[in-house]
Amino acid sequence: MNISAKTKMCIIIGDPVEHSLSPAMHNAAYEHLGIDDQFVFTAAHVEEKDIETIVHAVRSMGIRGLTCTIPHKVSIIKYLNSIDPIAEKIGAVNTVVNTQGHLKGYNTDWLGTITPLEEALKGTLQNKKVAIVGAGGAARAMAYGVIEKGAHLTVFNRSIENAQDLVDDLNKAASTPTPATVKPLDALSILPEFDVIINATSIGMGEQKDETPVDKRFIRKNHIVFDAVYAPRETRLIQEAREQGATTIYGLEMLLHQGAAQFELYTDHKAPVEVMRSILYT
Ligand code: NAP
Repeated sequence: MNISAKTKMCIIIGDPVEHSLSPAMHNAAYEHLGIDDQFVFTAAHVEEKDIETIVHAVRSMGIRGLTCTIPHKVSIIKYLNSIDPIAEKIGAVNTVVNTQGHLKGYNTDWLGTITPLEEALKGTLQNKKVAIVGAGGAARAMAYGVIEKGAHLTVFNRSIENAQDLVDDLNKAASTPTPATVKPLDALSILPEFDVIINATSIGMGEQKDETPVDKRFIRKNHIVFDAVYAPRETRLIQEAREQGATTIYGLEMLLHQGAAQFELYTDHKAPVEVMRSILYT
């Protein structure tokens, strides 16, 4: 252990947070690069009512990085000194960088979506037909990335109002106006027309771990199927997509690539992606 009085802290805050893989992933990367004397990454269970106090502590203690997970990604924004334009468009911050007391908010979740998708496509998302099932916080960052890359987006959701709000906000924010549309879940039978299917609902985890948001009859071998759910890694959707011959992307890849981009913002070092991946997949 190389921690000293000069070591800078980075912290993930959430409620709950005890399940987070971020500390292990970032600390392994510090160690690999030999900068574990400069940085250490921990976690803190923080309730929403305490967020303002935490922001004061970040400034006064010189905490270098504040990673925000549920439910803090939106509520943190009003306490920051500045916000990156992309995070502003998405309307959520998962990364706060403290530079001598100036707190700037970023969103790296969208990169966690785009990077693995373009790797799987071996090319760009431009003009691809992308279906996102879900319209919550994860869907917002994923949808921003998809629209920003020039793909044609359809959001399928249980609540049409939530999906419409998401699409309206993103159509206003996107630099390339690409029309995005909204459909109810009973329209999922049109999925064979799409190139990419993304699950951004919580179906597949917790009490819904034996369920899938997409009937396997609608999955084809030309599809790329990306499940944002990462616990369990092998969701029913991922298993059935593989059975159908589709290319699959685990939710852990989103966690990895948002974390790699965040690592670079905190440390100014290139992220050792393979080291970080090996931690997530153990
Ligand atoms: P959220 O804001 O609570 O949104 C949940 C979404 O799931 C909503 O669209 C909701 O539909 C839908 N939903 C929930 N239960 C449903 C059901 N029984 N039937 C149909 N739709 C249902 O959650 P979130 O923060 O976006 O997270 C969504 C998932 O993404 C979670 O599993 C989370 O772990 C995962 N995630 C992964 C990463 C990663 O790095 N891999 C990052 C963030 C989140 P309504 O709008 O109709 O309520």
